[in-house]
Amino acid sequence: MKITDYFEKSKGQTLVSFEVLPPLKGGSMNDIFETLDPLMEFKPPFIDVTYHREEYVYNKRPSGYYEKTAIRKRPGTVGICASIMHRYGIDAIPHLICGGFSIEETENALIDLNFLGINNVLALRGDARQFEDKFIPETDGHKFAVDLVKQINDMNKGIYLDSNIEKGTPTDFCIGVAGYPEKHFEAPNFAIDIEYLKQKIDAGASYIVTQMFFDNTNFFRFRDACEQAGIHVPIVPGLKPITKKYQLSSIPRKFFINFPDILVKEMMKTEDKDIKKLGIEWCISQCKELKAAGVPCLHFYTMGDVDTTYKIIEKV
Ligand code: FAD
Repeated sequence: MKITDYFEKSKGQTLVSFEVLPPLKGGSMNDIFETLDPLMEFKPPFIDVTYHREEYVYNKRPSGYYEKTAIRKRPGTVGICASIMHRYGIDAIPHLICGGFSIEETENALIDLNFLGINNVLALRGDARQFEDKFIPETDGHKFAVDLVKQINDMNKGIYLDSNIEKGTPTDFCIGVAGYPEKHFEAPNFAIDIEYLKQKIDAGASYIVTQMFFDNTNFFRFRDACEQAGIHVPIVPGLKPITKKYQLSSIPRKFFINFPDILVKEMMKTEDKDIKKLGIEWCISQCKELKAAGVPCLHFYTMGDVDTTYKIIEKV
């Protein structure tokens, strides 16, 4: 079923959904099941599975020189989606990125998804590779997520890259895109970032999932700005509880978000052993307020931490 149909059918009730990361290469599908099995109690209609492009690693050769190799540390996104759908009978949403894909490879990946009965996809640009200071698309790949959305939307109309295909079978993908309550770090300002987001919706995306945030006022400001810009699709807040003190600096560094003053001050004076409890309480109060404000779904970046996610949802 399409993700937007779940939102329509829920008739104003707030759903919950989860995002999981493929295990590191050499890991097992059980790592995913161990995260998801206990969370099924909350009847998520769908699970997102992230996509991780190849990264460069430097291996020391016997000569002393370093050899640069590209490896994918977390492969398996599509297989995990199929496996989740098979085990739990719910929808799985693969994340599809522009980085590392030519448009032809993107088309073939979408054909695989379509044949597998996966008809939801989160369309993203992806980040720069490690050791590269900006995002570099493949020579014949997409530069921005909006271009990927356009390609998927074309396939939904039966338009494939090969112009010799006259009556291509239309796919039926429901397309989600990313939104940034505190603006994407590369965008010159908040208003322009919203304009680009609007382009993704106009190109055929039907819902938005946000980057994590810890201050709901940022989410509400973002939601209002979307409304004013003529973006009227469901907006799903992405949530992640803080569980360790070092995340006060690692999360802003990685995700370009800010922590509210009051949370930082509380965290600073809390002993390490009590940080997780405080993070859970903060996230519960965020969730309660978001639910009261009518969000269609609370989307949790589980990062494999079942215990924390469980404790939050059972209170919400
Ligand atoms: P875009 O929408 O293309 O935007 C990228 C930047 O370009 C923004 O600054 C935007 O303002 C600007 N821009 C957009 N369109 C134009 C234009 N036409 N002209 C000029 N500038 C423009 N990454 C992964 O690698 N794998 C994942 O699984 C993954 N999952 C994610 C899930 C969520 C919910 C979120 C919020 C992010 C996820 N990311 C993932 C990270 C994401 O790939 C990065 O944040 C990336 O830097 C931007 O992706 P985007 O799709 O928002 O890009």
